[in-house]
Amino acid sequence: METPLRNLATEAVHAGREDLAARGLHAAPLDLSTTYPSADSRAEAARLDEFAATGALPAGPPVYGRLGNETVDRFETALARLEGTESAVAFASGMAALTATLLVRASQGLKHIVAVRPLYGCSDHLLTAGLLGTEVTWTDPAGIADAIRPDTGLVMVETPANPTLAEVDLRAVAYSCGEVPLLVDNTFATPVLQRPATLGARAVLHSATKYLGGHGDVLGGVVACDEEFARQLRQIRFATGGILHPLAGYLLLRGLSTLPVRVKAQSATAAELVRRLKADPRITKVHYPKVGGAMVAFEVDGDPHEVIAGVELITPAVSLGSVDTLIQHPGSISHRVIGADGRRSGGISDRLLRMSVGLEDVEDLWADLDAALSAAVRAPAEAVR
Ligand SMILES: *Cc1c(COP(=O)(O)O)cnc(C)c1O
Repeated sequence: METPLRNLATEAVHAGREDLAARGLHAAPLDLSTTYPSADSRAEAARLDEFAATGALPAGPPVYGRLGNETVDRFETALARLEGTESAVAFASGMAALTATLLVRASQGLKHIVAVRPLYGCSDHLLTAGLLGTEVTWTDPAGIADAIRPDTGLVMVETPANPTLAEVDLRAVAYSCGEVPLLVDNTFATPVLQRPATLGARAVLHSATKYLGGHGDVLGGVVACDEEFARQLRQIRFATGGILHPLAGYLLLRGLSTLPVRVKAQSATAAELVRRLKADPRITKVHYPKVGGAMVAFEVDGDPHEVIAGVELITPAVSLGSVDTLIQHPGSISHRVIGADGRRSGGISDRLLRMSVGLEDVEDLWADLDAALSAAVRAPAEAVR
């Protein structure tokens, strides 16, 4: 039976760990087994048949490490609880999670995807290049209903979107999708700020590498969804092998414990930096979503490469969602792969910088940013690319 939903901060530290105290444990055990011994191969055959037929996790030990893992299960249970879904299925990375989602639909003959730009650069690339045999139609939110065809398997949006922090109205988009499943990349908002499944999304994608892990030391991905879709994802995961390593599952479960406090503290600092950036004549545009959060994007009057070169406390690196502040130039790194035309159609300026605000003191961050911005404004601004 479903445990009634407790508040998010409580779930963050308890979900997926309910059995521990009765087992005499406090921290979740880390199971590194690749295989699970059984003297009863008739029973193992039955368990494998059941998984092949249904995609439901077999009761008891998982037969083989690619089928399941109890440490990873705990992370999946906890994330599903935070997102308000029945289930969640974890993968080796956010891109492995997206790949599996696309393959679930493509394997049913539904190879057409409708998507809204901007998306994370590699997600855009995976769809545009059709590497998995899918075909994409890019549209704006208002065009979704018209873009849907009989072979449309998925509508995909990201909100706030990487890297411009553009937002889409999820309720309205979910309505436009009709019967077609809506996949929402919720990496930036996290369930602390937004729970897309409660607004009509069928599946919620995370690069767990970012806020869920939160410390820049684990790669992972996860899809939170209903159990029917989760079963299909598990079958694809078993067949294609993009599993989450148990140690990563352990670190992600631990990361979830502090997700609400991290996101709230980092968001408060981000909001203060946004206030200062908006008042700063060296900045031509500040992007910050209504939903809030710890991601800030801004366009500089000078050369954005000089800001990257000028920061000392802030880490000049791609990725986001860590306890320390990171800054990167999307045109050079996160959205390089989609090319100048893709960036233009996603509204990604060459002068845009994307900053993921960490847990440092706001005055120290501002002092660093302020010095880097001054260096950038002094540099000649021609030929930015
Ligand atoms: C990083 C990212 C991804 C890809 O996740 P990986 O874990 O790097 O594979 C997908 N979506 C968004 C919004 C991201 O920021």
